[in-house]
Amino acid sequence: MSIDTTRPTTSPFTATVPGTARIGANRELKRAVEAYWAGRSDRAALESVAAVLRRDGWRQLLTAGLDSIPVNTFSYYDQILDTAVLLGALPTRVASIDDPLDAYFAAARGADGVAPLEMTKWFDTNYHYLVPEIGADITFALDPTKVLSELAEARAQGVPARPAVIGPITFLGLSKPATADDDAPLSRVDELIPLYIDLLGRLAAAGASWVQIDEPILVTDADEGLAELAERVYGALAAATDRPSILVQTYFGDAGDALAALARTDVEGVGVDLVSGSVETVLAAGLGDKHVVAGVVDGRNVWRTDLDAALGRLESIRGVVGTLAVSTSCSTLHVPYTLRGEDGLDPALHGWLAFAEEKVGEVTALGRAYAHGRAYQAAEFDAARAALASRSDDPRLHVDSVRARLAALTTADSTRTAAADRRVIQDAALGLPTLATTTIGSYPQTTDIRKARQALRTGAIDEAGYVERMRAEIADVIALQERIGLDVLVHGEPERNDMVQYFAEQLDGFFATANGWVQSYGSRCVRPPILYGDVVRPAAMTVDWISYAQSLTAKPVKGMLTGPVTILAWSFVRDDQPLADSANQVALAIRDETVDLERSGAAIIQVDEPALRELLPLRAADREAYLDWAVTSFRLSTAGVADATQIHTHLCYSEFGEVIGAIGGLDADVTSIEAARSHMEVLADLNAIGFATQVGPGVYDIHSPRVPGVDEITASLREALDAVPADRLWVNPDCGLKTRTTAEVTEALTNMVQAAVAVR
Ligand code: GLN
Ligand code: ZN
Repeated sequence: MSIDTTRPTTSPFTATVPGTARIGANRELKRAVEAYWAGRSDRAALESVAAVLRRDGWRQLLTAGLDSIPVNTFSYYDQILDTAVLLGALPTRVASIDDPLDAYFAAARGADGVAPLEMTKWFDTNYHYLVPEIGADITFALDPTKVLSELAEARAQGVPARPAVIGPITFLGLSKPATADDDAPLSRVDELIPLYIDLLGRLAAAGASWVQIDEPILVTDADEGLAELAERVYGALAAATDRPSILVQTYFGDAGDALAALARTDVEGVGVDLVSGSVETVLAAGLGDKHVVAGVVDGRNVWRTDLDAALGRLESIRGVVGTLAVSTSCSTLHVPYTLRGEDGLDPALHGWLAFAEEKVGEVTALGRAYAHGRAYQAAEFDAARAALASRSDDPRLHVDSVRARLAALTTADSTRTAAADRRVIQDAALGLPTLATTTIGSYPQTTDIRKARQALRTGAIDEAGYVERMRAEIADVIALQERIGLDVLVHGEPERNDMVQYFAEQLDGFFATANGWVQSYGSRCVRPPILYGDVVRPAAMTVDWISYAQSLTAKPVKGMLTGPVTILAWSFVRDDQPLADSANQVALAIRDETVDLERSGAAIIQVDEPALRELLPLRAADREAYLDWAVTSFRLSTAGVADATQIHTHLCYSEFGEVIGAIGGLDADVTSIEAARSHMEVLADLNAIGFATQVGPGVYDIHSPRVPGVDEITASLREALDAVPADRLWVNPDCGLKTRTTAEVTEALTNMVQAAVAVR
């Protein structure tokens, strides 16, 4: 290999990341805020944990070789909430709380008589942000305390700090009007421009030479005219006289037209996602005088980077852009901290992965290779090549039997007899009353259950002892349901820690990390399994539990599975094949499970797809293709059973909006769907698409400990009956009951059954 002799143009900085995780490699911040909330520690203790986490995080990035480091990416809870504070955009009920930290946590979690902000998904990630409410009572006002103090703190430690804030378009674009009478928040963007100009001046005065302004909304179709808006807003910010250089950072997709629009302004830099966005957009945007932060290392998946390919992408824009820095494609908030400590992993698998710490190493290696030639980083490139080869050669990624089965699939495999004909057969077989009552699957995860799981982990009990305890739980839950008088029972899911991990642990092709936690929201973290290979189901996964439950009662017990889309949505997925292929592999495993359940006597099987909406692409143009494969994989997983077997599905967590059409496409016999909080609105939407199968809109909200009365549930049921005839309506709560107490559940379900009986 020859040494690349291309000489770089002097770059303002060469290697960075748009942001990092902040919860702590061992979830230190989670523990600290939870202790503070519980009154077990004071504010000084919380602040000192936070300061140590910031210091250690900066030091690690600096040691790894980054020469510009984002600050203000720390957060006690959420970066959008931080931005609401920055801009004076907290609703009055919160802003009227005197103490700023109390107000902050009240906005996040609620306080006495103060409802928290709503929470929703951050673009298409599994992170959730708090949704600002922009009402007429809000007069924006700058409060730069946090960003200025983190900047000063970093500079005092010798960190080449680049303060990062969420930009005005993204902030308002992700906010909601406080009431139906309020205008779309984005219509108030001009009010924010002077605040950002003021902020730029203060950051310059505090010694910042660059500021990063995040505008991920520019990779979406959230609003018409985003590109024009970006040009206008950043034209105005760039015109400020007293300011640092501005980097407008996009991520999670291709910035499309917005990139050329930004190029026409006088901002000095733009950040682009070159993992999910395209090089062509960058080539066409006219970035010849800009500093481009090129995100070629995937910031949100866990695979080791193909350094040759990444360097190739960088080389393809050399000379077309002004100067260049290498970066991850987005904040590393979305991946675990480090592979150190993951010693339990298969060594081959270990070599294929890169978590945040390793990704930063890749960024600096690429930065050096870009500047000085590949040979300068030969060891890193060789190691990456070897890992890639080992991964593509590994037989676990190419299981012939799985491949053959997928190749042989036809539409018949995802097609059942017409729903109306199945209905007749199932009604005769099941003999259920109209307005049949059921629940969504889980019952309270009691301390006994948690203790048993703990005891199994520590070895205090063995597998047989654990099974015995879970069976006792199942027996209790079955007895409870019979006492309450429900029509279709469930086993209660005591053996499941999590509806995805539980299946991932039993399927070949997935593995679990020891410490691969990522923040889901606030102090909540999840540890997603990693789908690395072809999916094989070595043995039945749920049959023993369901048959045991069925043996205790004459009423039907639903088999309970998680659908392929949800399993993928809550895992890290393969990047070496289309998601659709991975979905179909998971679907075949679920299908085999449905067939085994049916054989063991299950007459009803529920396949949950609560995450159907979550993977919806950010660009409208990509949605049809997604919905197509998502629906197909669900159908594939449920079309292997006889006509007499009733397939249920369950959907929640969403305004269904764009996926409503797909819900019909799933072709489930019964669809239970979250509806209580939105007053059954979803039923009208389903009617509008000609949905004609049975539906169980949630008749009460399970998210609150409040027990609904019979009258309230009756009212909700009558509301449902306005939209759907009784012979298509089921009666069930909004979602699983695992976060509730047994006392709450008993009372609420008793009331629900009473309401159903009264309305019948
Ligand atoms: N069957 C699952 C449960 O009842 C469904 C959970 C969900 O919708 N997220 O817990
Ligand atoms: Zn649910």
